[in-house]
Amino acid sequence: GRTPLLAGNWKMNLDHLQAIAFVQKLAWSLADAKHDFDSAEVAVFPPYTDLRSVQTLVSADKLPIAFGAQDLSVHDSGAYTGEISGAFLAQLDCTYVIIGHSERRTLHGETDEVVAAKTKAALRHGLVPVVCVGETAEDLEKHGPSAVPVAQLRAALDGLAEGSEIVVAYEPVWAIGSGQAATPEQAEQVAAALRPVIAEILGADAAAATRILYGGSVKAANIAGFMREPNVDGALIGGASLDLDEFSSIVRFQK
Ligand code: 13P
Repeated sequence: GRTPLLAGNWKMNLDHLQAIAFVQKLAWSLADAKHDFDSAEVAVFPPYTDLRSVQTLVSADKLPIAFGAQDLSVHDSGAYTGEISGAFLAQLDCTYVIIGHSERRTLHGETDEVVAAKTKAALRHGLVPVVCVGETAEDLEKHGPSAVPVAQLRAALDGLAEGSEIVVAYEPVWAIGSGQAATPEQAEQVAAALRPVIAEILGADAAAATRILYGGSVKAANIAGFMREPNVDGALIGGASLDLDEFSSIVRFQK
Protein backbone atom coordinates (compact mmCIF):
# COMPACT_ATOMS: atom_id res chain seq x y z
CA GLY A 1 0.00 0.00 0.00
CA ARG A 2 0.99 3.61 -0.54
CA THR A 3 1.65 5.69 2.59
CA PRO A 4 -0.51 8.82 2.39
CA LEU A 5 1.38 12.09 2.17
CA LEU A 6 -0.03 15.27 3.68
CA ALA A 7 2.09 18.13 2.44
CA GLY A 8 1.90 21.84 3.25
CA ASN A 9 2.97 24.23 0.50
CA TRP A 10 3.60 27.45 2.39
CA LYS A 11 4.13 29.45 -0.81
CA MET A 12 5.64 32.87 0.06
CA ASN A 13 4.57 32.81 3.71
CA LEU A 14 6.40 32.46 7.07
CA ASP A 15 9.96 33.73 7.47
CA HIS A 16 12.64 31.54 9.04
CA LEU A 17 11.79 32.56 12.61
CA GLN A 18 8.10 31.88 12.06
CA ALA A 19 9.02 28.62 10.36
CA ILE A 20 10.92 27.35 13.39
CA ALA A 21 8.04 28.19 15.72
CA PHE A 22 5.48 26.64 13.36
CA VAL A 23 7.31 23.35 12.75
CA GLN A 24 8.06 22.96 16.46
CA LYS A 25 4.40 23.51 17.37
CA LEU A 26 3.22 21.23 14.60
CA ALA A 27 5.48 18.45 15.88
CA TRP A 28 4.22 18.95 19.45
CA SER A 29 0.61 19.01 18.34
CA LEU A 30 0.98 15.79 16.38
CA ALA A 31 2.96 14.11 19.18
CA ASP A 32 0.23 15.10 21.68
CA ALA A 33 -2.36 13.58 19.37
CA LYS A 34 -0.20 10.43 19.10
CA HIS A 35 -0.13 10.78 15.33
CA ASP A 36 1.19 7.66 13.62
CA PHE A 37 3.64 9.02 11.04
CA ASP A 38 3.95 5.58 9.45
CA SER A 39 0.28 5.70 8.53
CA ALA A 40 0.35 9.27 7.20
CA GLU A 41 3.55 11.06 6.27
CA VAL A 42 3.80 14.80 6.93
CA ALA A 43 5.87 17.25 4.89
CA VAL A 44 6.27 21.02 4.73
CA PHE A 45 7.50 23.17 1.84
CA PRO A 46 8.81 26.46 3.26
CA PRO A 47 10.48 29.28 1.32
CA TYR A 48 14.16 28.72 0.49
CA THR A 49 15.35 31.11 3.20
CA ASP A 50 13.68 28.94 5.88
CA LEU A 51 15.15 25.61 4.82
CA ARG A 52 18.40 25.76 6.82
CA SER A 53 16.49 26.65 9.98
CA VAL A 54 13.95 23.89 9.43
CA GLN A 55 16.73 21.40 8.75
CA THR A 56 18.53 22.36 11.96
CA LEU A 57 15.37 22.04 14.05
CA VAL A 58 14.25 18.77 12.47
CA SER A 59 17.67 17.15 12.87
CA ALA A 60 18.33 18.47 16.42
CA ASP A 61 14.94 17.33 17.71
CA LYS A 62 14.68 14.30 15.40
CA LEU A 63 11.24 15.44 14.28
CA PRO A 64 9.36 13.01 12.02
CA ILE A 65 8.49 15.80 9.58
CA ALA A 66 9.85 15.79 6.04
CA PHE A 67 10.53 18.99 4.14
CA GLY A 68 11.37 20.24 0.71
CA ALA A 69 11.67 23.32 -1.47
CA GLN A 70 9.02 24.89 -3.69
CA ASP A 71 11.18 24.98 -6.82
CA LEU A 72 14.74 24.41 -8.06
CA SER A 73 16.97 25.35 -10.97
CA VAL A 74 17.28 23.21 -14.08
CA HIS A 75 21.05 23.83 -13.74
CA ASP A 76 23.43 22.33 -11.20
CA SER A 77 25.70 25.37 -10.73
CA GLY A 78 27.02 28.39 -12.58
CA ALA A 79 26.14 31.90 -13.66
CA TYR A 80 22.39 31.77 -12.95
CA THR A 81 21.74 34.71 -10.66
CA GLY A 82 18.95 34.05 -8.19
CA GLU A 83 18.62 30.36 -8.96
CA ILE A 84 18.93 27.49 -6.45
CA SER A 85 20.60 24.20 -7.33
CA GLY A 86 19.12 20.85 -6.42
CA ALA A 87 22.56 20.03 -5.03
CA PHE A 88 22.10 22.73 -2.38
CA LEU A 89 18.67 21.39 -1.48
CA ALA A 90 20.04 17.87 -1.14
CA GLN A 91 22.77 19.25 1.19
CA LEU A 92 20.00 20.68 3.37
CA ASP A 93 18.39 17.22 3.70
CA CYS A 94 15.39 18.12 1.57
CA THR A 95 13.48 14.97 0.70
CA TYR A 96 11.18 16.58 -1.82
CA VAL A 97 10.95 19.50 -4.21
CA ILE A 98 7.77 20.86 -5.78
CA ILE A 99 8.01 21.17 -9.57
CA GLY A 100 5.73 23.03 -11.95
CA HIS A 101 3.25 24.43 -9.48
CA SER A 102 0.56 26.32 -11.40
CA GLU A 103 1.82 29.58 -9.89
CA ARG A 104 5.25 28.87 -11.44
CA ARG A 105 3.64 27.96 -14.75
CA THR A 106 1.37 31.01 -14.87
CA LEU A 107 3.33 33.74 -13.10
CA HIS A 108 6.83 32.65 -14.10
CA GLY A 109 6.22 31.22 -17.55
CA GLU A 110 7.29 27.65 -16.81
CA THR A 111 6.56 25.48 -19.82
CA ASP A 112 6.18 21.70 -19.92
CA GLU A 113 9.82 21.58 -21.15
CA VAL A 114 11.05 23.53 -18.13
CA VAL A 115 8.99 21.32 -15.83
CA ALA A 116 10.53 18.21 -17.43
CA ALA A 117 14.05 19.62 -17.06
CA LYS A 118 13.40 20.48 -13.39
CA THR A 119 12.02 17.00 -12.75
CA LYS A 120 15.23 15.52 -14.16
CA ALA A 121 17.32 17.95 -12.10
CA ALA A 122 15.53 16.88 -8.91
CA LEU A 123 16.11 13.19 -9.58
CA ARG A 124 19.76 13.84 -10.49
CA HIS A 125 20.28 15.19 -6.97
CA GLY A 126 18.37 12.48 -5.15
CA LEU A 127 15.32 14.66 -4.48
CA VAL A 128 11.81 13.33 -4.97
CA PRO A 129 10.02 15.67 -7.39
CA VAL A 130 6.43 16.55 -6.52
CA VAL A 131 5.26 17.13 -10.07
CA CYS A 132 2.23 19.42 -10.22
CA VAL A 133 -0.34 19.23 -12.99
CA GLY A 134 -3.81 20.69 -13.36
CA GLU A 135 -6.23 22.28 -15.75
CA THR A 136 -7.71 25.77 -15.75
CA ALA A 137 -11.48 26.32 -15.76
CA GLU A 138 -11.21 27.10 -19.46
CA ASP A 139 -9.28 23.85 -20.13
CA LEU A 140 -11.94 21.95 -18.24
CA GLU A 141 -14.68 23.42 -20.37
CA LYS A 142 -12.80 22.90 -23.64
CA HIS A 143 -11.03 19.59 -23.11
CA GLY A 144 -12.84 17.82 -20.27
CA PRO A 145 -11.40 16.78 -16.93
CA SER A 146 -8.27 14.70 -17.64
CA ALA A 147 -6.80 15.74 -21.00
CA VAL A 148 -4.64 18.65 -19.82
CA PRO A 149 -3.32 17.04 -16.60
CA VAL A 150 -2.53 13.85 -18.53
CA ALA A 151 -0.67 15.78 -21.25
CA GLN A 152 1.24 17.82 -18.65
CA LEU A 153 2.29 14.68 -16.77
CA ARG A 154 3.36 12.88 -19.92
CA ALA A 155 5.52 15.88 -20.85
CA ALA A 156 6.99 16.17 -17.34
CA LEU A 157 8.00 12.50 -17.18
CA ASP A 158 9.31 12.30 -20.72
CA GLY A 159 12.70 10.57 -20.80
CA LEU A 160 12.80 9.53 -17.12
CA ALA A 161 14.30 6.20 -16.16
CA GLU A 162 11.92 3.38 -15.39
CA GLY A 163 11.36 3.08 -11.63
CA SER A 164 12.11 6.75 -10.84
CA GLU A 165 10.55 7.83 -7.55
CA ILE A 166 8.18 10.74 -7.93
CA VAL A 167 5.07 12.19 -6.34
CA VAL A 168 2.33 13.67 -8.51
CA ALA A 169 0.07 16.49 -7.35
CA TYR A 170 -3.16 17.04 -9.23
CA GLU A 171 -4.13 20.64 -8.59
CA PRO A 172 -6.95 22.03 -10.71
CA VAL A 173 -6.11 25.71 -11.16
CA TRP A 174 -9.74 26.70 -10.56
CA ALA A 175 -9.63 25.03 -7.13
CA ILE A 176 -6.43 26.67 -5.87
CA GLY A 177 -7.10 29.33 -3.28
CA SER A 178 -10.68 29.66 -4.48
CA GLY A 179 -12.46 27.88 -1.65
CA GLN A 180 -14.04 25.78 -4.37
CA ALA A 181 -12.37 22.37 -4.05
CA ALA A 182 -12.89 19.64 -6.63
CA THR A 183 -15.21 16.90 -5.46
CA PRO A 184 -13.55 13.65 -4.34
CA GLU A 185 -15.07 12.02 -7.43
CA GLN A 186 -13.49 14.63 -9.73
CA ALA A 187 -10.11 14.18 -8.05
CA GLU A 188 -10.39 10.40 -8.31
CA GLN A 189 -11.31 10.56 -11.99
CA VAL A 190 -8.18 12.52 -12.86
CA ALA A 191 -5.90 10.56 -10.50
CA ALA A 192 -7.15 7.35 -12.12
CA ALA A 193 -6.26 8.79 -15.53
CA LEU A 194 -2.79 9.87 -14.38
CA ARG A 195 -1.71 6.53 -12.95
CA PRO A 196 -1.57 4.76 -16.35
CA VAL A 197 0.68 7.57 -17.66
CA ILE A 198 3.09 6.82 -14.82
CA ALA A 199 2.88 3.11 -15.66
CA GLU A 200 3.57 3.81 -19.32
CA ILE A 201 6.74 5.79 -18.61
CA LEU A 202 8.07 4.59 -15.25
CA GLY A 203 6.68 1.05 -15.27
CA ALA A 204 3.91 -0.78 -13.47
CA ASP A 205 5.72 -1.12 -10.14
CA ALA A 206 6.52 2.59 -9.99
CA ALA A 207 2.94 3.45 -10.93
CA ALA A 208 1.61 1.28 -8.12
CA ALA A 209 4.02 2.93 -5.65
CA THR A 210 3.59 6.57 -6.73
CA ARG A 211 1.55 8.83 -4.46
CA ILE A 212 -0.92 11.00 -6.35
CA LEU A 213 -1.98 13.97 -4.24
CA TYR A 214 -4.97 16.23 -4.66
CA GLY A 215 -4.52 19.97 -4.11
CA GLY A 216 -6.89 22.93 -4.22
CA SER A 217 -8.86 24.32 -1.25
CA VAL A 218 -8.20 21.28 0.93
CA LYS A 219 -9.21 21.81 4.56
CA ALA A 220 -9.97 19.73 7.64
CA ALA A 221 -13.64 19.57 6.67
CA ASN A 222 -13.06 17.99 3.23
CA ILE A 223 -9.85 15.94 3.51
CA ALA A 224 -11.52 12.65 4.50
CA GLY A 225 -13.59 12.55 1.32
CA PHE A 226 -10.47 12.78 -0.84
CA MET A 227 -8.63 10.17 1.22
CA ARG A 228 -11.45 7.66 0.71
CA GLU A 229 -10.74 7.60 -3.04
CA PRO A 230 -8.55 4.68 -4.15
CA ASN A 231 -6.21 6.70 -6.40
CA VAL A 232 -5.85 9.76 -4.15
CA ASP A 233 -2.93 9.21 -1.79
CA GLY A 234 -2.73 12.50 0.04
CA ALA A 235 -2.98 16.21 -0.42
CA LEU A 236 -0.92 19.29 -1.21
CA ILE A 237 -2.32 21.99 1.02
CA GLY A 238 -1.79 25.72 0.58
CA GLY A 239 -3.70 28.20 2.74
CA ALA A 240 -4.87 25.65 5.32
CA SER A 241 -1.28 24.47 5.89
CA LEU A 242 -0.46 27.85 7.48
CA ASP A 243 -3.01 27.36 10.27
CA LEU A 244 -1.54 25.04 12.88
CA ASP A 245 -4.82 23.56 14.17
CA GLU A 246 -6.26 23.22 10.69
CA PHE A 247 -3.16 21.53 9.23
CA SER A 248 -2.82 19.28 12.26
CA SER A 249 -6.47 18.21 11.80
CA ILE A 250 -5.90 17.55 8.09
CA VAL A 251 -2.91 15.34 8.89
CA ARG A 252 -5.02 13.40 11.39
CA PHE A 253 -7.86 12.89 8.90
CA GLN A 254 -10.21 10.01 9.59
CA LYS A 255 -11.36 8.12 6.54
P1 13P B 1 -4.89 26.13 -1.47
O1 13P B 1 -4.90 24.94 -0.53
O2 13P B 1 -4.64 27.42 -0.77
O3 13P B 1 -6.06 26.13 -2.38
O4 13P B 1 -3.59 25.95 -2.40
C1 13P B 1 -3.38 24.74 -3.03
C2 13P B 1 -2.01 24.75 -3.60
O5 13P B 1 -1.72 25.46 -4.54
C3 13P B 1 -1.01 23.87 -2.97
O6 13P B 1 0.13 23.77 -3.74
